[in-house]
Amino acid sequence: MPLGEFDVIARYFTHSTTRGDVLLGVGDDAALLMPPPGQALVAATDTLVEGRHFLPGTPAAAVGHQALAVNLSDLAAMGADAAWALLSLSLPEVDEPWLDAFAQGLHALAERHGVALVGGDTVSGPRVVTIEVLGFVPPELALRRGGARPGDLLFVSGWPGEAAMGLELLRSGRLPFTADDHCVRRFLYAEPRLALGQALRGRATAAMDVSDGLLGDLAKLARASNAGATVDLARLPVSPALVSHVDRARCERYVLNGGDDYELLFTLPPQLATQADAIAAAAGCVVHCIGEITTGSGVRCERDGRVESIEEAGFDHFAR
Ligand code: ADP
Ligand code: MG
Repeated sequence: MPLGEFDVIARYFTHSTTRGDVLLGVGDDAALLMPPPGQALVAATDTLVEGRHFLPGTPAAAVGHQALAVNLSDLAAMGADAAWALLSLSLPEVDEPWLDAFAQGLHALAERHGVALVGGDTVSGPRVVTIEVLGFVPPELALRRGGARPGDLLFVSGWPGEAAMGLELLRSGRLPFTADDHCVRRFLYAEPRLALGQALRGRATAAMDVSDGLLGDLAKLARASNAGATVDLARLPVSPALVSHVDRARCERYVLNGGDDYELLFTLPPQLATQADAIAAAAGCVVHCIGEITTGSGVRCERDGRVESIEEAGFDHFAR
């Protein structure tokens, strides 16, 4: 007997939680949740469609991880504490091994960040995963995209470009999903930077997560801040893992244009810049200063003080 909708919910998506702010979770018509007084509720949702946002054949554990990770990354970018998640799942059939691995990938990440799955919807259809996450932040400390000022220094966390390299290795068939490769793992299991986002509260003047590529996302931050930005190409973090796959020039393109890293891009006023490394270390990651916010508009790349135009042609493998 194949499992029915309610068996699927009961078996895979009904977990007890130790969160005292969940009065009622999965099982009733809706969840009953108690936001902490005085805090803003932060809400985000993202959908992953098989064949568009994840490759057919992607391990189910990675799909479960990614679906939650991309959402938690949005909360991280707001400086929020993650609390609750809702999962809407559309599946062509009840494939128990797939569901089992999917649920494991999702619950493992949820547990690490203290997130309770409090509801959702389960339907049959093409494989599509939608998650909504809810979190909290003191309203005056929320990190927005629009607060950067000329003279602020520009930082990015971690090693952008690795995930895009991982995707490229998988998409080209050069490596299988099970490969023991740093870039492949970074693509399949990106870590949302929640601790860093929270540490930047009250310090960063602007922040966003990098999901579509550093340069493109920086342009959004600059526009929201009514400012320009300069990236110093000589200061780009080029990870050893990237260098092991392609030459330096191509590495830079991955760093600048690759997506799916879910690192944080943020700005600090100059007087806080010397604290950046300590803030990041306390949050369990590294950050790199890659440029600064300027007057005017648009994003400019420089190397050793000379403007360099970034050739994007030939990188259609990043096109979505
Ligand atoms: P309703 O018909 O009242 O909308 P459902 O029968 O769809 O409720 O769902 C029953 C309960 O199971 C609800 O609490 C709902 O939030 C939860 N639920 C359904 N699907 C999921 C899922 N994929 N993950 C988590 N909770 C789910
Ligand atoms: Mg109902």
